[in-house]
Amino acid sequence: MRPPLIAGNWKMNGTASESDALARGIRRGLEERPPDGVEVLVCPHYLALERVRAILDGSTVRLGAQDLHWESKGAFTGEISPAMLREAGCTHVIVGHSERRHIMGESNEQVNRKLKAALAQGLTPIVCVGELLEERTAGDTRQVVERQAQKAFEGIPATDVPRAVLAYEPVWAIGTGRTASPAQAEEVHRFLRNTMTRIAGPEAAERIRILYGGSVKAENIKELMEQPDVDGALVGGASLDAASFVKIARYKE
Ligand code: PEP
Repeated sequence: MRPPLIAGNWKMNGTASESDALARGIRRGLEERPPDGVEVLVCPHYLALERVRAILDGSTVRLGAQDLHWESKGAFTGEISPAMLREAGCTHVIVGHSERRHIMGESNEQVNRKLKAALAQGLTPIVCVGELLEERTAGDTRQVVERQAQKAFEGIPATDVPRAVLAYEPVWAIGTGRTASPAQAEEVHRFLRNTMTRIAGPEAAERIRILYGGSVKAENIKELMEQPDVDGALVGGASLDAASFVKIARYKE
């Protein structure tokens, strides 16, 4: 049984006070009619974490960060440690988002270190994998996501694997309005679950949640969630509007 997870990645959007308003709107909307059995998570930028935590206090909405560093402290200007995130109230953290891989040049090896550091600190990492448009066109999707998943989970005990969440985010679908069709998403999700079986065995692979991300909206979430291996969504743009994010979380209605 894999409880669905709907996660909002707010990226570098919203001043802290705008983040307050967004968090209030999401809380209010979800409390009006709580989504049945769906876990909800929001990932604001670092400066808004503690304010959003205060607003969500006592609600079921969880708090996550968008990145972390693998070291616990030291001379790493501009970085943030797993313990700092825990202290700020985070339960989750996104790792290896494609914007970090492709804009900031984050490597598979760094993603692996971050994943290990998050797990060691008791955070739930959401590990993103996904192919570029040219990789899909060249027929390399499976090869790319398999390598990213293999490298990310290298050296992680099989028993720890289900503590992480995997997110399939085709880069060509992020922020473009172009969503993978439910069939395209399911094909890669199934492939990733088989990949996780090879990495960590069938039990861990059955338990790990695999989210889909890439232009998810209230209009397409339901059919994506109907796919057997889609266990939730990582939502960018549509998570910046409280009403649309709440609608996505209530996809079962
Ligand atoms: C994302 O960046 O994780 C994402 C899925 O963005 P969007 O929903 O805007 O495509």
